[in-house]
Amino acid sequence: MNGETYEPIETASVDELRALQLERMQWSLGHAYENVPHFKASFDAAGVAPSDLKELSDLSKFPFLNKADLRDNYPFGMFAVPQDQIVRLHASSGTTGKPTVVAYTRKDIDTWSTVMARSIVAAGGRAGDIAHVAYGYGLFTGGLGAHYGAEHLGCTVVPMGGGQTEKQVLLINDFKPRIVFVTPSYFLNILDEMERQGLDPRESSLEIGIFGAEPWTPELGLEIEARANIAATDIYGMSEIIGPGVAQECVETKDGPTVWEDHFYPEVIDPETGQVLPDGEQGELVFTSLTKEAFPIIRYRTRDITRLLPGTARTMRRMERISGRTDDMLIIRGVNVFPSQVEAEILKIDGLSPHFLCEVGTDGNMKSLTVRVEPQPGVEDDGLGPALQHYIKTNIGVTADVIVEAEGALPRSQGKAQRVVNS
Ligand code: ADP
Repeated sequence: MNGETYEPIETASVDELRALQLERMQWSLGHAYENVPHFKASFDAAGVAPSDLKELSDLSKFPFLNKADLRDNYPFGMFAVPQDQIVRLHASSGTTGKPTVVAYTRKDIDTWSTVMARSIVAAGGRAGDIAHVAYGYGLFTGGLGAHYGAEHLGCTVVPMGGGQTEKQVLLINDFKPRIVFVTPSYFLNILDEMERQGLDPRESSLEIGIFGAEPWTPELGLEIEARANIAATDIYGMSEIIGPGVAQECVETKDGPTVWEDHFYPEVIDPETGQVLPDGEQGELVFTSLTKEAFPIIRYRTRDITRLLPGTARTMRRMERISGRTDDMLIIRGVNVFPSQVEAEILKIDGLSPHFLCEVGTDGNMKSLTVRVEPQPGVEDDGLGPALQHYIKTNIGVTADVIVEAEGALPRSQGKAQRVVNS
């Protein structure tokens, strides 16, 4: 079943899509090589030239681009057009060093707005809807990305931004938006605030949640859908690729985000060896931009872990929901653990809320895990901790200490949730 689409390419034949990708990839490799000294140097060092790409699979001959390469070229060294053609800059949060600066020409902004508009339609949004944007504005791509996409589609945009939770509730209540853009962890915070004010989230005007910028599990999606009576859909993106709108889950199938691969070509690789893995196998997601002018990326290693799956609601391939980034992966007594796995176990237990924190400590020369979690409002802690401990042991395979905190004891997210702290 196909839902409404924004552009014909979304349901074109696979042959048409692959032909378009090849033509665009050849252009993008040449554009990067000719205009960005880093790509010229790295292609030359690997002994490849853009003309070596005869078919899409030849991409595997080209070198990867890493976050460190972007840092080495801080701030403007990766730009492929003169500065007077650049209409916008954004930057990633830079928690691990200098921020990564990305740039857009007017055409890039138009491409981004179009893929965001496509994403909104895939989520079930339509022109004329009121869209409440609770992603942060500013250097972070979330707010402005959603904003331009919603305007492009013809929505009425409420540029609320992140934070000021009481005001978020006021505006949702009074302006009656149909769509909300927000990180799922911050939406939980907004739902708590609605309930604190005596409002029933199920009665709100919201029908569509476009949730992204952080990992979240299908279990959390079901919880949010039940609590707020909305369709929860997953949007994926990152500033280096363009921002939000690289991939979006279609509301009619809700089976993982469809990658808008006519603009962003995905590969999944083995993070250890760099080998390209066949579709269906789990590994690190790598993207090549096919149409970007100001900031082309060729084989950018995202560090996000997923697998590529065949298209369902669209011709384009889907990605499995991101379980986490390689840098968020905890290794607890030899077992790999993502915070999203802990979230999934928490939500299997009636009486536990989705507010949690993973605290990593040391136990000799091994790492230990303590999970702090809150009960649902008004629920007595009657064996909740041991129950969660048992689930984590059985389903993830690690022994964790579990502390059930008092309601409201854990910090609430204002945007991207911080799920891991070192003790
Ligand atoms: P940074 O967090 O490095 O500042 P961004 O703000 O561009 O950069 O965030 C991009 C990252 O956010 C992605 O690489 C991914 O780890 C995470 N992310 C974005 N959307 C999703 C999603 N739908 N599911 C899981 N993780 C996501």
